[in-house]
Amino acid sequence: MEIETLGIPKNKVTQFQKKGLFTVEDLARFFPRKYYDFRKITPISQVKDKEVVAIVGTLEEVIVSNKLVRAKVRDNSGKNLYVLWFGNPYLAKKLKTKETYIFCGKIRIDTEYNTRQMASPMFFGTDIKAYQRIIPVYSKIQGMSTDYLMDSIRSALAVADKSDYVEPLLLNKFNIPKNAVALRAMHEPKDEKELQIAQRRFVFDDLFLFGMQLANQQQGVVSRSPFVMPTCNTIKRFMDNLPFDLTDGQRQALRSIYLKMRKGERVNALVQGDVGSGKTIVAFILMLISAENGFQSVLMAPTTVLAKQHYLELIEKTKDMGYKVGFLSGDMKAKEKKEIIKGIESGEIQLVVGTHAVIQKDVAFQNLALTIVDEEHRFGVVQRNELNEKAKHGVHQVTMSATPIPRTLAMSVYGDSVDVLTITTMPKGRKPVQTIQIRNEDKAYEAMYRQIKQGRQCYVVCPLIEDSESEALADVDSVEATFDKMKKFYNKYPEVNIAMISGKMKQSEITEEIAKFSQNKYDIIISTTIIEVGVNVPNATVILIKNAERFGLAQLHQLRGRVGRGSHQSYCVLLSEEKENPKLKAMCDTTDGFKIAEKDLELRGTGDFIGTKQSGNNKYVMLMLSNPNFFEKVKEEVNRIYTEPNRLARYTFLNEKNIGNK
Ligand code: ADP
Ligand code: MG
Repeated sequence: MEIETLGIPKNKVTQFQKKGLFTVEDLARFFPRKYYDFRKITPISQVKDKEVVAIVGTLEEVIVSNKLVRAKVRDNSGKNLYVLWFGNPYLAKKLKTKETYIFCGKIRIDTEYNTRQMASPMFFGTDIKAYQRIIPVYSKIQGMSTDYLMDSIRSALAVADKSDYVEPLLLNKFNIPKNAVALRAMHEPKDEKELQIAQRRFVFDDLFLFGMQLANQQQGVVSRSPFVMPTCNTIKRFMDNLPFDLTDGQRQALRSIYLKMRKGERVNALVQGDVGSGKTIVAFILMLISAENGFQSVLMAPTTVLAKQHYLELIEKTKDMGYKVGFLSGDMKAKEKKEIIKGIESGEIQLVVGTHAVIQKDVAFQNLALTIVDEEHRFGVVQRNELNEKAKHGVHQVTMSATPIPRTLAMSVYGDSVDVLTITTMPKGRKPVQTIQIRNEDKAYEAMYRQIKQGRQCYVVCPLIEDSESEALADVDSVEATFDKMKKFYNKYPEVNIAMISGKMKQSEITEEIAKFSQNKYDIIISTTIIEVGVNVPNATVILIKNAERFGLAQLHQLRGRVGRGSHQSYCVLLSEEKENPKLKAMCDTTDGFKIAEKDLELRGTGDFIGTKQSGNNKYVMLMLSNPNFFEKVKEEVNRIYTEPNRLARYTFLNEKNIGNK
């Protein structure tokens, strides 16, 4: 059912669509990012800095100045607190002095003036009791108020399709509630217990979906390949042009893959190696071997920026070899795309690099023999299968990931025949990235300048402001605000060139700016996590991450991987005011991706994974790791279903569902 059926006006429907929400069911499944427990009221005398609390107090005065609304609240503890809103003067009309309200938000204690503040809190006047509950916090929808979003979700819950695809038998067996019950509890949990049970249901859904897709993938897998590749003379020619030797890890990975290709055994390999270990070169060499033996190959990457970078590098590194390289991405002009697709179909293009665009229906290959998926955890199982379906049975499949997983788990995800090849050696001359946490932003800017003076470049990463505005935190800078700040700071060093990638830019502009940065036309580039995966600029030696506490640990490690890619000493600077943050501590303690991955798992809770749409396989792998027994049980059930055709028919629709990122 379309969202329009709820009687929502067109402009609001568009806002939902931009967030990927099209149907009433999508909306009902738009789960909170987190919850606040406002069942307990905190006396103002006891509030602590940075805590998110609910207080109940009486308004003593409301002051409106310019765009700032400031109100003084006093409660029974006899203490007072200021609530503030920026850029929202009309709010003042809603607030009446001498009335009692409940305010929920994050506390800031200003030690200099000894005042307590709460910026942009949620607040309710009448029927305070009704708001003393667990409050959901949603991801922000551009242009929409929290109230509107919550109302819409409520209407969606009332009319959404409540039929349950899961057999009652399984509900019992796995001790999970019905879809409809769980949905409501996710949005309006009475208590923690109800929420946990609901989460269990969606963990089941995710694991079951993933398990079914994995089982489906195992059907028709063959161990022989028609794509036999007897020669590999290309390697030598290619290596002669490289300014470095391969590391042992790279050699071993190549060797074990090539030995199979040579004999016509089907390759199914997962190449895992920490960020910066040099996986791209391995991919390129395999593609060249395919071309030398008369076959096509394709390299698929999760972002346009990364795909484009691979494409340009492949062209550059193979320029005298006489192969034709083609690039495909979703945002290309129709005419250009058509041309490339024609070349792929005729076989004129041997080496194909692209984004998800390469798995579109209209792309057909002449004789595809090798598929390589870079940053594979960002895609879903279905996407990987769709890529392999572009070739005949027995296509060689290589996936590359910087997020390491244990062999047993790899076997679940890629099949029993998977070869897990781990690159543990880093290229020669690399120095581990020094990681520090600091609070003083200006100090970081000053340190960056010292690097810039030596010819180096810097990344600055800002968090994406994701939360609903009820929680809008005044202490987070956007990319734009950071740009202004830095412009001012570097006024005294006019030779410093600063660029930014803002959310409003087109994909082509973003690619352009990153290309210019990699050609050293900018000293500093400011962005959100768009540079998270794969971007390779060896001359960059500093990455400054603002509000570092807001990022996930795995994400921080990926971001750190943007530096330390050349021979210069590099630095990762975590800007944060949190003193005892375990994620930031882990980052400062180790640069080992395996240790980071373990810690990440340890620090996350189940709720973390539910409702995160865009993380591809990673989410499912993490879910499996954190619920091993549950997943074993689900897997057993899936296997049973595959032996019972009647039941299988009920669930086959799951195999079409695309769960990767869009
Ligand atoms: P990742 O494994 O994170 O994908 P990349 O393939 O992007 O890493 O490689 C990181 C950098 O290391 C690139 O600049 C690449 O050219 C360089 N590199 C790769 N292999 C070697 C090597 N054997 N010796 C030196 N530098 C290398
Ligand atoms: Mg890479």
